[in-house]
Amino acid sequence: MRCKYVLPSGEQCKANAVKNSTHCYFHSPLISEAEKKAAQAKGGANRARKLDQPLPGIKLEKLADVKQFMSNVIGQAAKGEMDTRAAKDLIYMATEWRNTQTAYINKKGSEDICDIF
Ligand SMILES: [Zn+2]
Repeated sequence: MRCKYVLPSGEQCKANAVKNSTHCYFHSPLISEAEKKAAQAKGGANRARKLDQPLPGIKLEKLADVKQFMSNVIGQAAKGEMDTRAAKDLIYMATEWRNTQTAYINKKGSEDICDIF
């Protein structure tokens, strides 16, 4: 059953109601604000992602380094050695880094990005 709470916009809440209740967890009048706040904070902590083990020292200076890094991350995730969400984050960061590097190369005609930081 859908939560019966009506949002200030006039739209009905889209969350599912808690079992044997007419409201979702966050709109339930039976759950105190303090409990809801604590649950929200806990949810935030659960969403924070950390690698189980730190990766060995990584130097991403040239495009080939980034390519190698991405290849390693994908390989580890594929073998089940790394959380796929963590791998996705690392690939995202590596992609951003690669794009920055590529933009620099296009501008300066060199792979030496270190002197721009
Ligand atoms: Zn609701």
